Amino acid sequence: MKIIDLRSDTVSIPTEEMRKVMYTAEIGDDVYQEDTTVNQLEELGAEISGKEAALFVPTGTMGNLLAIMSHTQRGEQVIADEWSHILKFEGGGVGSIAGLSSKEIQVDNGIFTAEIIKEEIVTNDDVHCAQTGLICLENTHNMAGGIVTPLKQMEEIYWLSRQHDIPLHIDGARIFNAATHLKCNLKELSALSDSMMFCLSKGLCSPVGSLLVGTTDFIKTARKHRKTLGGGMRQAGVFAAAGIISLNKMSKRLEEDHENLSLLAEKLQEFNSFNINMANVQTNILMVDLINTEKDADTLVEEMKNVGVLCSAITAKRIRFVTHYYIKKEDISLAIDRISSIIN
Ligand SMILES: *Cc1c(COP(=O)(O)O)cnc(C)c1O
Repeated sequence: MKIIDLRSDTVSIPTEEMRKVMYTAEIGDDVYQEDTTVNQLEELGAEISGKEAALFVPTGTMGNLLAIMSHTQRGEQVIADEWSHILKFEGGGVGSIAGLSSKEIQVDNGIFTAEIIKEEIVTNDDVHCAQTGLICLENTHNMAGGIVTPLKQMEEIYWLSRQHDIPLHIDGARIFNAATHLKCNLKELSALSDSMMFCLSKGLCSPVGSLLVGTTDFIKTARKHRKTLGGGMRQAGVFAAAGIISLNKMSKRLEEDHENLSLLAEKLQEFNSFNINMANVQTNILMVDLINTEKDADTLVEEMKNVGVLCSAITAKRIRFVTHYYIKKEDISLAIDRISSIIN
């Protein structure tokens, strides 16, 4: 039975073309900055994001943490939303490693506005309060179902951060999905930030790696922190070679994943047991709420697994599907047929 793996876009393996360039890549010691393929990837990342410099990092989590450490002083506070990857799924590094407290903003849908953030900014030198050191924005927003922060909202948040002289970091693990949805250039999004992290290893099919982009000075600081955290890789060019294909090629085909997800959502919506907020179906992540059924998410995920459809339980009554390069239109129809055999 063909397994249709809709758990995450992280399950996408490198393409054949990637494996070939990984084999032949020119490599060197990247801690000495002598890996020409890593250097090439970093130059490309800086160029397409319109930032001065880029740093290749093993994971998005490390990229975010380096950004946080490089922008702030210990004891400051970072503002992010309560369901952000940075606060929820990065092992608490904001506190335990960067030495910061966090202000978790509660928002519907993961999208926060300048108005909400404004209330939470602490800039005065009141001895009682931790000063705001950084604002983090996640785009697309994973837990909110891959939704995209509209440009106008990003602009307002960016201008607020300028007014208060507080750096703004974008957790852009899936920023190319956001750019695809908004039909805009990556530069238009990164221009509204001081730094941005994006993953090569998710929908872009690289086996490993993310890029952190920002000013030359910022990247210099982040490079030092990367070494401290044990992220100074040696012949990392074998991965960077795949990353170059991710940027040049895979970032330009995400519309297909979005179309497939939207098809999946339309079909799943017809089942009585599923409730979907179609307005949130924007990119490659779909959240489905279970209604009119006694079954909880774990049970249903297990049943679907038995018929060869993999997805994730997010809460007791919510499951998540994610499309990627290895999910084709036919797989969506097949998944629907199989799901209809176990649920109504
Ligand atoms: C996946 C992800 C990251 C980083 O993930 P790694 O697995 O560490 O590469 C960061 N932010 C968001 C929103 C993500 O989905």
